[in-house]
Amino acid sequence: MSDFLAEGDHVIGVDIGGTKLMAVVYDHSFEAKGRSKRKSKSKKGEPTEERLTKTIQEALEGAGVERVRGIGVGSPGPLNPKTGVIIDTPNLAWKNFPLAKYLEKAFNVPVVVDNDVNVGTYGEYRFGEIRDCESVLGVFPGTGIGAGIIIDRKVFYGFSGAAGEFGHMTLEVDGPYCGCGKRGCLEALASRVAIAAESAALAARGDAPNLLATCGTDLAKIRSGALAEAIKAGDTMVEGVVRKAAYYVGIATGNAINMLSPEAVVLGGGLVEAMPKLYLEEIKRGISDHAMPFLRKKVRIVTAKLGDDAVVLGAAHMIAERVGDS
Ligand SMILES: [Zn+2]
Repeated sequence: MSDFLAEGDHVIGVDIGGTKLMAVVYDHSFEAKGRSKRKSKSKKGEPTEERLTKTIQEALEGAGVERVRGIGVGSPGPLNPKTGVIIDTPNLAWKNFPLAKYLEKAFNVPVVVDNDVNVGTYGEYRFGEIRDCESVLGVFPGTGIGAGIIIDRKVFYGFSGAAGEFGHMTLEVDGPYCGCGKRGCLEALASRVAIAAESAALAARGDAPNLLATCGTDLAKIRSGALAEAIKAGDTMVEGVVRKAAYYVGIATGNAINMLSPEAVVLGGGLVEAMPKLYLEEIKRGISDHAMPFLRKKVRIVTAKLGDDAVVLGAAHMIAERVGDS
């Protein structure tokens, strides 16, 4: 039951991903009433914002609802959560795009736009198994490695609005180059891309026969599911690569625990979903080795429970709070 919406009220949660757009209409108790999904990119070159409008429209039609109280959106960053402007998302061809204003105009309702990692963490916090916690750190290893920070039940944005650049924590001063231009960032050591590159090298020299059979040495094909399957089939050196990467995520999480002292850590994203046991083991080991004993004691380390719905639910809750308070 929501404290923010009255019976008969509806809100929409939207997830803008690199590959898919999803919109879900929720009623006052956050029960899904209509949903729609399509690929982010069109073959005809249709702008993302137009595809987004259509996706939201279809979700409304599916729910049989004409009016909602507001729309919450989780989008890849960098973005400004105060103004709802997407600063630069090359994948979706948005540069300084006023997404919140655009949707407010199209649907004539209030809109909040926030970073997808913040929104996903918030969804897990509000609807997952850690809803009784007051401070939560969400860690999402994937193509990038982002973190959402919730302190005293609120998302923490910092001075710039962009707090949580977890993936660019320096772990090895002389380590490999990162996409940001620095050396030795967590992302350069432990992202899905870093894992794929090292595993492809193993496959190329005959040390990962199962991975070679399913993906060859194509980095784009070596995704989380393929890595999980190769490990299951007996590619022990691939397992070593993934375990090392997961341990790095654990080191960074341990450092973050020292800084923030959260009550719970929620782990999500494609790699964790594909290999939950391995990730949980290695991240716990990293935390145990690198967080101060007093700070790590009793911290709950859990895997995300909402899967694809974390962002839409988190976004719907954010807008419900915004419109419900007024
Ligand atoms: Zn970096």
